[in-house]
Amino acid sequence: MASPVKQAKIQVKDDETIFGYIHHVSDCKVSSVKRIKLFNAVLQTNREDFKNMAVFAPEMHTAFMQAEKNRSPVKVKNFTKRISAQGEGFEVYCGKETQVSVVERLPFCFKEPPEKAVLSINEVKAMAPKQQVRAVVGRVIHVSDVTETVECRGSCMETQACYIEDSGGNIKLQLWDKLIGRVVVGQTYKWSNLSTRMFGGKLYVTTTRHSEIELMDPLPGLKKEIDFHNDEGEVKIIEGKITSVEVVVSRRCCRCQAWQEEFEAKAKFHRCVRCKRLQVLQMYESTVSASLTLSGKSEEELMVPNTVVKRYDLYMYVIVIIIV
Ligand SMILES: [Zn+2]
Repeated sequence: MASPVKQAKIQVKDDETIFGYIHHVSDCKVSSVKRIKLFNAVLQTNREDFKNMAVFAPEMHTAFMQAEKNRSPVKVKNFTKRISAQGEGFEVYCGKETQVSVVERLPFCFKEPPEKAVLSINEVKAMAPKQQVRAVVGRVIHVSDVTETVECRGSCMETQACYIEDSGGNIKLQLWDKLIGRVVVGQTYKWSNLSTRMFGGKLYVTTTRHSEIELMDPLPGLKKEIDFHNDEGEVKIIEGKITSVEVVVSRRCCRCQAWQEEFEAKAKFHRCVRCKRLQVLQMYESTVSASLTLSGKSEEELMVPNTVVKRYDLYMYVIVIIIV
Protein backbone atom coordinates (compact mmCIF):
# COMPACT_ATOMS: atom_id res chain seq x y z
CA MET A 1 0.00 0.00 0.00
CA ALA A 2 1.62 3.21 -1.14
CA SER A 3 0.42 5.85 1.28
CA PRO A 4 1.80 9.39 0.84
CA VAL A 5 3.78 8.98 4.07
CA LYS A 6 5.48 5.87 2.75
CA GLN A 7 6.42 7.58 -0.49
CA ALA A 8 8.03 10.40 1.41
CA LYS A 9 10.11 7.89 3.32
CA ILE A 10 11.34 6.19 0.17
CA GLN A 11 12.67 9.50 -1.14
CA VAL A 12 15.11 9.77 1.75
CA LYS A 13 18.26 7.82 1.08
CA ASP A 14 19.83 5.78 3.84
CA ASP A 15 22.97 7.85 3.87
CA GLU A 16 20.96 10.97 4.64
CA THR A 17 19.88 9.78 8.05
CA ILE A 18 22.14 9.51 11.03
CA PHE A 19 21.33 8.52 14.62
CA GLY A 20 22.96 9.56 17.84
CA TYR A 21 23.04 11.66 21.00
CA ILE A 22 23.68 15.38 21.10
CA HIS A 23 26.48 16.84 23.23
CA HIS A 24 28.18 20.21 23.80
CA VAL A 25 25.59 22.53 22.27
CA SER A 26 27.29 25.93 22.01
CA ASP A 27 25.69 29.37 22.20
CA CYS A 28 24.40 30.83 18.95
CA LYS A 29 27.10 32.84 17.25
CA VAL A 30 27.74 34.72 14.04
CA SER A 31 30.32 33.10 11.77
CA SER A 32 33.28 35.37 11.19
CA VAL A 33 33.51 34.57 7.49
CA LYS A 34 30.03 34.98 6.10
CA ARG A 35 28.23 36.52 9.07
CA ILE A 36 25.80 33.62 9.20
CA LYS A 37 24.23 32.60 12.47
CA LEU A 38 25.10 29.16 13.67
CA PHE A 39 25.82 27.03 16.68
CA ASN A 40 27.96 23.95 17.17
CA ALA A 41 27.34 20.62 18.82
CA VAL A 42 28.81 17.14 18.91
CA LEU A 43 26.86 14.12 17.68
CA GLN A 44 27.70 10.78 19.25
CA THR A 45 27.01 8.28 16.48
CA ASN A 46 28.22 5.17 18.22
CA ARG A 47 29.67 4.00 21.50
CA GLU A 48 33.00 5.74 20.82
CA ASP A 49 32.32 7.81 17.72
CA PHE A 50 31.73 11.57 17.84
CA LYS A 51 31.09 13.95 14.95
CA ASN A 52 31.31 17.72 15.10
CA MET A 53 28.14 19.49 14.05
CA ALA A 54 27.59 22.96 12.65
CA VAL A 55 23.95 23.99 12.67
CA PHE A 56 23.06 26.94 10.44
CA ALA A 57 19.52 27.14 11.77
CA PRO A 58 19.41 29.08 15.06
CA GLU A 59 15.71 28.23 15.46
CA MET A 60 16.78 24.66 16.24
CA HIS A 61 18.93 25.77 19.18
CA THR A 62 16.30 25.13 21.86
CA ALA A 63 15.53 21.65 20.51
CA PHE A 64 19.25 20.80 20.54
CA MET A 65 19.65 22.08 24.10
CA GLN A 66 16.68 19.97 25.18
CA ALA A 67 18.02 16.86 23.44
CA GLU A 68 21.37 17.27 25.18
CA LYS A 69 19.79 17.91 28.57
CA ASN A 70 17.41 14.95 28.30
CA ARG A 71 20.03 12.71 26.67
CA SER A 72 17.46 11.93 24.00
CA PRO A 73 18.38 9.59 21.14
CA VAL A 74 17.80 11.50 17.92
CA LYS A 75 17.57 11.00 14.19
CA VAL A 76 19.07 13.63 11.89
CA LYS A 77 17.76 13.80 8.32
CA ASN A 78 18.83 15.92 5.36
CA PHE A 79 22.22 17.08 6.45
CA THR A 80 25.46 17.60 4.56
CA LYS A 81 28.66 15.67 5.19
CA ARG A 82 31.82 17.73 5.26
CA ILE A 83 35.34 16.41 5.52
CA SER A 84 36.40 17.11 9.07
CA ALA A 85 39.00 19.76 9.81
CA GLN A 86 41.19 17.11 11.43
CA GLY A 87 41.12 15.12 8.18
CA GLU A 88 39.47 12.13 9.80
CA GLY A 89 35.87 11.25 9.10
CA PHE A 90 33.25 13.88 8.46
CA GLU A 91 31.38 16.69 10.14
CA VAL A 92 27.63 17.04 10.13
CA TYR A 93 26.36 20.32 8.64
CA CYS A 94 22.72 21.10 9.31
CA GLY A 95 20.65 23.75 7.59
CA LYS A 96 17.06 24.94 7.45
CA GLU A 97 16.00 21.75 5.64
CA THR A 98 17.52 19.44 8.25
CA GLN A 99 15.09 17.54 10.45
CA VAL A 100 16.04 16.42 13.92
CA SER A 101 13.59 14.18 15.75
CA VAL A 102 13.69 12.11 18.90
CA VAL A 103 13.63 8.35 18.40
CA GLU A 104 12.76 5.64 20.83
CA ARG A 105 16.11 4.05 21.56
CA LEU A 106 19.55 3.40 20.15
CA PRO A 107 21.76 0.31 20.46
CA PHE A 108 24.38 2.32 22.40
CA CYS A 109 24.34 4.55 25.46
CA PHE A 110 24.79 8.29 25.95
CA LYS A 111 28.43 8.93 26.74
CA GLU A 112 30.29 12.20 27.16
CA PRO A 113 32.75 12.95 24.37
CA PRO A 114 36.29 12.36 25.64
CA GLU A 115 37.40 16.02 25.57
CA LYS A 116 34.70 17.03 28.01
CA ALA A 117 36.55 15.16 30.73
CA VAL A 118 37.44 17.61 33.47
CA LEU A 119 41.15 18.33 33.56
CA SER A 120 43.20 18.62 36.71
CA ILE A 121 45.09 21.86 37.29
CA ASN A 122 48.39 20.08 36.70
CA GLU A 123 47.11 18.79 33.36
CA VAL A 124 46.18 22.36 32.42
CA LYS A 125 49.61 23.61 33.44
CA ALA A 126 51.17 21.05 31.09
CA MET A 127 49.28 22.47 28.10
CA ALA A 128 50.66 24.84 25.48
CA PRO A 129 49.46 28.47 25.43
CA LYS A 130 46.28 29.42 23.55
CA GLN A 131 44.67 26.01 23.99
CA GLN A 132 41.07 25.52 24.91
CA VAL A 133 40.35 24.02 28.31
CA ARG A 134 36.94 22.35 28.22
CA ALA A 135 36.53 22.20 31.98
CA VAL A 136 38.47 22.38 35.19
CA VAL A 137 37.20 22.21 38.77
CA GLY A 138 38.90 24.36 41.37
CA ARG A 139 38.39 26.15 44.67
CA VAL A 140 38.90 29.91 44.60
CA ILE A 141 41.78 30.70 46.95
CA HIS A 142 42.31 34.35 46.11
CA VAL A 143 40.51 37.11 44.26
CA SER A 144 42.38 40.30 43.50
CA ASP A 145 41.13 43.38 45.37
CA VAL A 146 41.20 45.45 42.24
CA THR A 147 40.27 45.07 38.63
CA GLU A 148 42.37 46.26 35.74
CA THR A 149 41.17 47.98 32.62
CA VAL A 150 42.97 47.09 29.43
CA GLU A 151 42.47 48.28 25.90
CA CYS A 152 41.39 45.52 23.57
CA ARG A 153 40.54 46.11 19.91
CA GLY A 154 39.80 49.76 20.47
CA SER A 155 37.62 49.40 23.53
CA CYS A 156 38.29 49.12 27.23
CA MET A 157 37.82 45.74 28.84
CA GLU A 158 37.91 45.07 32.54
CA THR A 159 39.69 42.09 34.02
CA GLN A 160 40.33 40.67 37.46
CA ALA A 161 42.78 38.02 38.58
CA CYS A 162 41.98 35.11 40.85
CA TYR A 163 43.66 31.86 41.80
CA ILE A 164 42.10 28.42 41.93
CA GLU A 165 43.39 25.16 43.34
CA ASP A 166 42.71 21.45 43.38
CA SER A 167 44.55 18.77 45.31
CA GLY A 168 47.44 18.86 42.81
CA GLY A 169 48.24 22.58 42.71
CA ASN A 170 46.99 26.05 41.89
CA ILE A 171 46.84 28.29 38.84
CA LYS A 172 46.08 31.92 38.08
CA LEU A 173 42.76 32.52 36.38
CA GLN A 174 42.04 35.83 34.68
CA LEU A 175 38.36 36.76 34.85
CA TRP A 176 36.78 38.99 32.22
CA ASP A 177 33.57 40.82 31.81
CA LYS A 178 30.50 39.23 33.37
CA LEU A 179 32.48 36.85 35.54
CA ILE A 180 34.09 39.69 37.47
CA GLY A 181 32.67 39.90 40.96
CA ARG A 182 30.81 36.62 40.61
CA VAL A 183 33.27 34.30 42.33
CA VAL A 184 33.71 33.92 46.06
CA VAL A 185 36.90 32.87 47.85
CA GLY A 186 36.48 29.41 49.35
CA GLN A 187 33.84 28.27 46.86
CA THR A 188 34.50 25.51 44.35
CA TYR A 189 33.39 25.96 40.76
CA LYS A 190 33.48 24.05 37.55
CA TRP A 191 34.96 26.42 34.98
CA SER A 192 34.12 25.59 31.36
CA ASN A 193 35.66 26.84 28.14
CA LEU A 194 38.75 28.56 29.44
CA SER A 195 41.85 29.24 27.39
CA THR A 196 45.52 28.92 28.32
CA ARG A 197 47.91 31.88 28.11
CA MET A 198 51.56 32.38 28.89
CA PHE A 199 53.03 35.38 30.68
CA GLY A 200 56.54 35.68 32.06
CA GLY A 201 57.16 31.98 31.47
CA LYS A 202 54.14 31.03 33.54
CA LEU A 203 51.01 29.43 32.20
CA TYR A 204 47.68 30.77 33.37
CA VAL A 205 44.10 30.44 32.21
CA THR A 206 41.68 33.09 31.09
CA THR A 207 37.92 33.11 30.71
CA THR A 208 36.49 33.52 27.21
CA ARG A 209 33.19 34.69 25.78
CA HIS A 210 31.92 31.14 26.12
CA SER A 211 33.11 30.53 29.65
CA GLU A 212 30.64 29.39 32.24
CA ILE A 213 30.87 28.72 35.93
CA GLU A 214 28.94 26.24 37.99
CA LEU A 215 29.03 25.98 41.77
CA MET A 216 30.31 22.56 42.89
CA ASP A 217 30.71 20.60 46.11
CA PRO A 218 34.10 20.99 47.83
CA LEU A 219 36.86 18.91 46.28
CA PRO A 220 38.20 15.97 48.26
CA GLY A 221 41.81 16.11 49.45
CA LEU A 222 41.90 19.83 50.24
CA LYS A 223 42.48 21.33 53.68
CA LYS A 224 39.66 23.43 55.05
CA GLU A 225 41.83 26.49 55.57
CA ILE A 226 43.22 28.24 52.54
CA ASP A 227 46.97 28.61 52.62
CA PHE A 228 47.80 31.03 49.84
CA HIS A 229 49.66 34.31 49.75
CA ASN A 230 49.99 36.62 46.82
CA ASP A 231 51.83 39.89 46.94
CA GLU A 232 49.75 42.35 45.00
CA GLY A 233 51.37 45.52 46.15
CA GLU A 234 50.54 48.15 48.66
CA VAL A 235 47.02 49.41 49.09
CA LYS A 236 46.86 53.17 49.09
CA ILE A 237 43.90 55.00 50.53
CA ILE A 238 42.86 58.34 49.16
CA GLU A 239 40.32 60.44 50.96
CA GLY A 240 38.72 63.52 49.52
CA LYS A 241 35.71 65.20 48.07
CA ILE A 242 34.82 64.37 44.49
CA THR A 243 34.82 67.61 42.58
CA SER A 244 34.10 66.28 39.11
CA VAL A 245 32.94 63.07 37.50
CA GLU A 246 33.23 62.19 33.86
CA VAL A 247 31.41 59.05 32.80
CA VAL A 248 31.91 57.21 29.52
CA VAL A 249 29.33 54.61 28.57
CA SER A 250 30.13 52.04 25.88
CA ARG A 251 27.54 49.60 24.65
CA ARG A 252 27.86 46.15 23.23
CA CYS A 253 25.35 43.95 21.39
CA CYS A 254 24.34 40.98 23.56
CA ARG A 255 23.76 38.89 20.46
CA CYS A 256 26.98 39.33 18.50
CA GLN A 257 29.16 41.19 21.06
CA ALA A 258 29.95 44.04 18.67
CA TRP A 259 30.71 47.41 20.24
CA GLN A 260 28.36 50.11 19.01
CA GLU A 261 29.93 53.32 17.88
CA GLU A 262 26.99 55.66 17.69
CA PHE A 263 24.26 55.06 20.17
CA GLU A 264 21.17 57.18 20.66
CA ALA A 265 20.37 56.58 24.32
CA LYS A 266 16.97 58.24 24.10
CA ALA A 267 15.67 56.06 21.28
CA LYS A 268 13.76 52.86 22.01
CA PHE A 269 15.54 50.70 19.44
CA HIS A 270 18.98 50.51 17.98
CA ARG A 271 20.29 48.61 14.96
CA CYS A 272 23.48 46.68 15.67
CA VAL A 273 26.41 47.75 13.53
CA ARG A 274 27.45 44.15 12.95
CA CYS A 275 24.52 41.72 13.11
CA LYS A 276 22.16 44.46 11.80
CA ARG A 277 19.37 43.47 14.14
CA LEU A 278 16.99 46.16 15.29
CA GLN A 279 16.77 45.54 19.00
CA VAL A 280 15.45 47.21 22.15
CA LEU A 281 18.10 49.12 24.07
CA GLN A 282 18.21 46.47 26.80
CA MET A 283 19.84 44.13 24.30
CA TYR A 284 22.94 46.31 24.47
CA GLU A 285 24.99 45.78 27.56
CA SER A 286 26.61 48.89 28.93
CA THR A 287 30.13 49.25 30.19
CA VAL A 288 30.82 52.34 32.23
CA SER A 289 34.06 53.94 33.18
CA ALA A 290 34.34 57.05 35.24
CA SER A 291 37.10 59.54 35.74
CA LEU A 292 36.97 61.30 39.09
CA THR A 293 38.74 64.36 40.36
CA LEU A 294 39.22 64.38 44.10
CA SER A 295 40.18 67.39 46.11
CA GLY A 296 41.86 66.57 49.37
CA LYS A 297 45.28 67.69 50.41
CA SER A 298 46.07 67.86 46.73
CA GLU A 299 44.04 67.30 43.62
CA GLU A 300 44.04 63.71 42.31
CA GLU A 301 42.51 62.08 39.29
CA LEU A 302 41.23 58.54 39.41
CA MET A 303 39.94 56.14 36.79
CA VAL A 304 37.11 54.02 38.10
CA PRO A 305 36.29 50.87 36.13
CA ASN A 306 32.92 49.40 35.22
CA THR A 307 32.33 46.98 38.09
CA VAL A 308 33.20 49.57 40.70
CA VAL A 309 30.90 52.16 39.17
CA LYS A 310 28.08 49.62 39.02
CA ARG A 311 28.66 48.24 42.50
CA TYR A 312 28.64 51.61 44.20
CA ASP A 313 26.23 53.33 41.86
CA LEU A 314 28.70 56.19 41.71
CA TYR A 315 28.08 57.10 45.34
CA MET A 316 31.75 56.96 46.06
CA TYR A 317 31.96 60.09 48.10
CA VAL A 318 33.59 58.23 50.96
CA ILE A 319 36.85 56.43 50.35
CA VAL A 320 38.37 55.18 47.15
CA ILE A 321 40.96 52.44 47.39
CA ILE A 322 43.53 51.84 44.72
CA ILE A 323 46.60 49.75 44.50
CA VAL A 324 49.85 51.31 43.43
ZN1 LIG B 1 24.79 42.52 17.04
